[in-house]
Amino acid sequence: MDHDVERILFNEAEIRSGTDRVAAEVTAAYAGRPFTVVSVLKGSCIFASDLIRRIPIPLELAFVSASSYGDGTQSGRLALNFFPAESEIAGRNLLLVDDILDTGKTLSRLVGEMHKRGAAEVRSCVFLDKPARRAVPFRADFRVFEVDDLFVVGYGLDFAGHYRNLPYVGALKRECYERPRSAAR
Ligand code: 5GP
Ligand code: MG
Repeated sequence: MDHDVERILFNEAEIRSGTDRVAAEVTAAYAGRPFTVVSVLKGSCIFASDLIRRIPIPLELAFVSASSYGDGTQSGRLALNFFPAESEIAGRNLLLVDDILDTGKTLSRLVGEMHKRGAAEVRSCVFLDKPARRAVPFRADFRVFEVDDLFVVGYGLDFAGHYRNLPYVGALKRECYERPRSAAR
């Protein structure tokens, strides 16, 4: 996998210190208030698990998977699956944790869905933020790093299902994502 990476953007030490910084911000924001970290699957599983272990106050953990179906545009519907249960959303203070904030469509719609299900408060925390790509107005409450408009993999982020297990974040070589779909599998 390493040889498919053009360059490393954030190495393990940088990720660790960035995550420490944001974990301290989250800890200060929720001190004395119960909250639930909602990890958006699959991409945020690595970031969320590193993040929560650096937050030394009580929290609960939940997961949601969000996939757009239909044409994938903003008007397309979002299929949500909750774990453990949709009933754990109502009345809670939620911190949605995602791998990367790109166009903003996923998170802005997820925030809306959580409010619809009766969440008391919904905030968001992203590992990466690509502000240049925003298509809908959305600002994450917490973010670790800002990145330029390029396709990145690793630390949870995939291309065609692969590279999530790279311990760093890197930019993929052009030939890896421009190669025909069948050859990428
Ligand atoms: P948004 O709705 O903000 O456009 O979408 C965010 C989702 O798009 C992320 O959760 C991720 O799945 C995908 N995504 C956006 N940019 C990248 C990227 O540079 N690399 C990877 N691997 N996924 C990305
Ligand atoms: Mg994703």
